[in-house]
Amino acid sequence: MKPVAYEYLRAAELAEIYTALHQDEGDIRPVSGAQSLGPMLNLRLSRPSLLVDLRHVPALRAVQDHGDAYSYGAAITHATFEDGLVPDAGNGLMRHVAGGIAYRPVRNRGTIGGSVAHADPAADWISTLLCLDARLQIGNGKTQRLLPVDGFMLGGFTTQLEAGELLERIVVPKVSAQARWSYHKICRKTGEFAKAIGAVMLDAGRGYARIVCGAIETTPIVLEEASALLLKQGVAAALPAALAEIDQRLAARPELARQMYRTAVKRALAGLEGKLA
Ligand SMILES: Cc1cc2nc3c(=O)[nH]c(=O)nc-3n(C[C@H](O)[C@H](O)[C@H](O)COP(=O)(O)OP(=O)(O)OC[C@H]3O[C@@H](n4cnc5c(N)ncnc54)[C@H](O)[C@@H]3O)c2cc1C
Repeated sequence: MKPVAYEYLRAAELAEIYTALHQDEGDIRPVSGAQSLGPMLNLRLSRPSLLVDLRHVPALRAVQDHGDAYSYGAAITHATFEDGLVPDAGNGLMRHVAGGIAYRPVRNRGTIGGSVAHADPAADWISTLLCLDARLQIGNGKTQRLLPVDGFMLGGFTTQLEAGELLERIVVPKVSAQARWSYHKICRKTGEFAKAIGAVMLDAGRGYARIVCGAIETTPIVLEEASALLLKQGVAAALPAALAEIDQRLAARPELARQMYRTAVKRALAGLEGKLA
């Protein structure tokens, strides 16, 4: 199938985007890499009257250094992270994750902001950014709000973004040089969407540890008790707690799925242990 006919605006600055998004008539949608929106257009699941292209707005492609955090423009591509062209607040985690998304043509066009806004539970950035305790800077042209990643996704493909709003920036606290991380994605083929994700960050210098279980058909979850144990007592104590938390919190899921979540988190923790040795 082909998309319905729509107008296209290549925005050059933020104000132009908001003027377009706030028009009274029609279904007006922002578009970044079009790697998720494109198929939806072709299937006519989305029938916009106007697409507003975000990719050529310098503010949405820039990185800002806030001292204790980097803020990344929403239209930065996965490939830009993969190629190390922007600093990595996660001490290599963001670069690693970006390089495992799909294959290179998708990474050349797909963006971090598009991925978060699209809110596919199986996507890599949402779990990674939760692991890094990132914040999302959302604007409407007049005001800004800063939301934690935790809670931004209300469910699969549903977020707290409101009509006329744009995800402008992703603010990621910088981990210390001693921080160690591990990321394990279970998928059928390299570069495919995940069936299960385990993401782990241990930054003892900052008193921070987080274990995330993702690709669970809804928003990813922080394994809170296991994260606290990881910080205080290390991987050996955290592992059984993480597995128990998965069994308890995802009790309604089929055993096969739970087995994949347990395995992803177990392998992520094993990867972390290897880096600590
Ligand atoms: C074959 C294939 C394999 C893939 N494999 C993976 C994978 O393994 N892991 C993974 O994580 N992803 C994967 N993806 C998805 C890919 O990462 C996309 O880049 C991403 O999901 C969407 O980013 P985009 O920039 O293309 O967004 P778009 O497709 O342009 O937009 C997606 C949605 O978000 C909205 N939007 C875009 N930007 C903003 C913004 N700044 N503010 C508000 N709303 C916005 C759009 O209106 C649209 O509704 C895959 C895609 C393909 C085609």
